[in-house]
Amino acid sequence: MRVQGPWIEDAATQAVCHALTSQGFQALFVGGCVRNALLGVAVTDIDIATDALPEDTMRCAKDAGLRAIPTGLEHGTITVVSGGIAHEITTFRDDVETDGRHAKVRFSKSVAHDAARRDFTMNAIYAQANGDVIDPLGGLADLNARHVRFIGNADTRIQEDYLRSLRFFRFTAWYGNSALGIDAEGLASVAANLDGLDQLSRERVDTELMKLLTAPDPSPAIAAMRSAGVLAKVLIGADDRALAPLAHYEQSLGLAPDPVRRLSALVGTQNADEMRLSKADKKRWAILRDEIGSMNSAGHLGYLHGANLALDVLVLRSAILEQPVSARDISNVKKGDAAQFPIKAADLPDLSGRALGARLKELEAAWIKSEFTLSRGDLLD
Ligand code: ATP
Ligand code: MG
Repeated sequence: MRVQGPWIEDAATQAVCHALTSQGFQALFVGGCVRNALLGVAVTDIDIATDALPEDTMRCAKDAGLRAIPTGLEHGTITVVSGGIAHEITTFRDDVETDGRHAKVRFSKSVAHDAARRDFTMNAIYAQANGDVIDPLGGLADLNARHVRFIGNADTRIQEDYLRSLRFFRFTAWYGNSALGIDAEGLASVAANLDGLDQLSRERVDTELMKLLTAPDPSPAIAAMRSAGVLAKVLIGADDRALAPLAHYEQSLGLAPDPVRRLSALVGTQNADEMRLSKADKKRWAILRDEIGSMNSAGHLGYLHGANLALDVLVLRSAILEQPVSARDISNVKKGDAAQFPIKAADLPDLSGRALGARLKELEAAWIKSEFTLSRGDLLD
């Protein structure tokens, strides 16, 4: 079995491996890059595992003329930048003491130890610089079956780090086989360890949640989260009934997955201010929340918020009603987006101050109501 792809053949990445192997150390790709390459999907970041101790990795990088940054030294991680690409190099390790959030690590010379401390079997597949696969835990078979499964005893692994409960749903959403359903043992263990989720910071929860909600169709994994009691813990009052229809209608409209749009479909009483989202995301979420239930027409939405956000509102409404967005609404959204209110203050020379503002508002409302057909002349009459 061999891993292929432009990323692994890239001379800059090969140079990073060579920096280690030329000094007698191992350099093994692991995690998302190997998993995604084997699945034939995009590789976004490169993790390398090595038997070199962090100080050896630093020295190897320097000797090879590469920039090394000790980004996570206490866990043995050095970031080596080559060709503008960051490579996260982590020393093989054992997690010796865990408290549900942090681990005390012991560096190791054994790839088997390193594999055993990882979360899911499909995330513990390694590849040498030439692409040859090393599969200490049978992750390949699970990957081929698209079976997201904890390494070892699921209960124990969750109690070591409760974030794994959320990662379980995220990886199931992205890489699981929806016909097979979620791994039953894993789900039962998540459900039996709900209290531990309280230890996680809002920031880590939200990062995971947003990654999960970016999956092509997050609805089966979110439904599993609901049934295990996780959803109510991470998003207070969430109701996921609209999520599956949303993913369906998004697909028919060719809309790319969008975590904020999906989050809006889960509504609930979760206070957005408590969540760790960017300002822009919060703003969009607030607009979507308000407009889903507003009476504003498709054209009005397009005029107020632009075509993209307006279409988000329409598809959310359609998911709730379980009715596709009409072609007419889509065309009205575009019309509204392009429309320019034809009246300016100078058109109303007899008015000023508050009266002028009120009159402009009135005329704008009439113009919107006409679906932007009233002309300047019509309005001034
Ligand atoms: P992606 O980067 O596409 O989100 P990934 O699998 O690379 O997916 P990362 O979070 O980058 O995920 O982690 C890299 C690897 O480190 C994982 O594949 C897994 O082997 C290991 N890992 C990460 N987080 C944990 C964790 N909480 N518990 C155990 N192993 C973990
Ligand atoms: Mg990664």
